[in-house]
Amino acid sequence: MKTAKKKIIIADIAALKKNFAYNGLNTVCQSAKCPNIGECYKNKTATFLILGKNCTRACAFCGVDKFTPEPLDADEPKRVARAIKDLGLSYSVITSVTRDDLPDGGAEHFARTITEIKNSIPNVKIEVLVPDFKGEQSSLNIVLAAKPDVFSHNLETVAPLYNMARKGADYKRSLDVLKYAKRKGFKVKTGIMTGLGETLSQIFNLIDDVKNAGIDILTVGQYLAPTKKHLPVVKEYSPKEFEEIEKYALKINIPKIVCGRYVRSSYLAEKHYNS
Ligand code: SF4
Ligand code: SF4
Repeated sequence: MKTAKKKIIIADIAALKKNFAYNGLNTVCQSAKCPNIGECYKNKTATFLILGKNCTRACAFCGVDKFTPEPLDADEPKRVARAIKDLGLSYSVITSVTRDDLPDGGAEHFARTITEIKNSIPNVKIEVLVPDFKGEQSSLNIVLAAKPDVFSHNLETVAPLYNMARKGADYKRSLDVLKYAKRKGFKVKTGIMTGLGETLSQIFNLIDDVKNAGIDILTVGQYLAPTKKHLPVVKEYSPKEFEEIEKYALKINIPKIVCGRYVRSSYLAEKHYNS
């Protein structure tokens, strides 16, 4: 029985991979070598990586490729919608590399993708995990006008580590992106990693900041270095330490905190949207 079940799971994963390859789509699950890939694919959940595979930034923790960005693929939004429909997904997460080379940072492409999905599968829920768009409100407005169900932007780490881990990003600017979407009435989400060298009190300060930004969902997971060339893991958090972080977030009334070693911002996203 166990073997039969395992065979079905492997077949499910293979079917998903086949669909993505057929539709010429990238998933962050594969590009970022996410540790949850087996579990998420088995549940037919995936995070689509639009706007190409190559990022214009070079965050020192990230496994995404950092080469020259590809030309915009105008047909991609349609293919994402087709894949979601074919796979029968009820919840989809759409994210992208950062495209500092594009005048709108790829905002219009995000909006087109949301619209194509909504037109093709009316009841599907859409979460967008966007880059900071250099803080440009005009770009944020384009994405928000397409009405995603959840607006997500990851802070990734605490402010004092930005220079080391997220060159080209700015902690306050990222917070402002979240605040802006919240002011516009959206359900807002962010995620961070532990283990890059931050202190617990710096994490608590960040939680205070996201509380003030009006965050609805916060995810906290352990950083796992994608390769030896990436930032090393400074500390492995214990389940007790994750519990401590969760307790603090609950104490200051963060509406939803998802915390644990393998938590990633899109991990079981549908469940956390509904709970
Ligand atoms: Fe990775 Fe995002 Fe940083 Fe690009 S901006 S390197 S995709 S974390
Ligand atoms: Fe993909 Fe997100 Fe699941 Fe990782 S947690 S496998 S990125 S859907």
